[in-house]
Amino acid sequence: MTYNGTIYRPPVEANTFLLPVTEGCTHNSCSFCNMYQDIPFRMLPLSEVEDYLQEVKESYGRYCERIQRVYLVGADPFALSARNLLERIDLIKQYLPNASVITMYARTDNIASKSDEDLKMLKEAGVDDLYIGVECGLNDVLENLNKGYSAEDTKEQCLRLNAVGIWHCDLLMLGTAGKGRGLECGRASAALEIFGSQPEEHGGFHELHCRLYRGSGHRAFPEYERKAV
Ligand code: SF4
Repeated sequence: MTYNGTIYRPPVEANTFLLPVTEGCTHNSCSFCNMYQDIPFRMLPLSEVEDYLQEVKESYGRYCERIQRVYLVGADPFALSARNLLERIDLIKQYLPNASVITMYARTDNIASKSDEDLKMLKEAGVDDLYIGVECGLNDVLENLNKGYSAEDTKEQCLRLNAVGIWHCDLLMLGTAGKGRGLECGRASAALEIFGSQPEEHGGFHELHCRLYRGSGHRAFPEYERKAV
């Protein structure tokens, strides 16, 4: 398989089998990100995915049966339609019969483009632990970052995942609001993730049911914008 671009995966997936299914990012416009700048979004055809799985099977034989978790490579493979994802998952199960969890990055708009029925079918097929770039609970910051969606949009879509039982791992960039706004960003993100619409004085609860929060101190000041990279 010839793969264009760098393969990125979350650190916690260090021991997971990686399967390329897309190149590039459907959005490719976040102001702080240059990971896929020169790589147009492309869905790898089913035949390329199958050739790769075939090679893996030939190289590793019965060890393939040990693989239980598969990470789909790409900035947002969840952008694929439910039908395309399910076709690829069917293939995975032909070659890796014990693969029961299919994980990947997902943007909020990738989730929004799917019906509840789609999400249910994907969950039943093993899709779980979607990595979502929530970044920050402040909408002016998200606008600055050019994420393409608001904090409320993300919350709405995460609640849809919860309703069908798909776990998600929410990624926060706590330094992104800039100097002097760290606390504000932290509080807004915590309110989004933890308290939701439940008043804090009632004790709050993990409304978004996130399996993992991953916070970083990354910032995105104008001098770091992709145009200047
Ligand atoms: S959605 Fe992710 S990969 Fe795409 S531009 Fe934004 S940060 Fe980069």
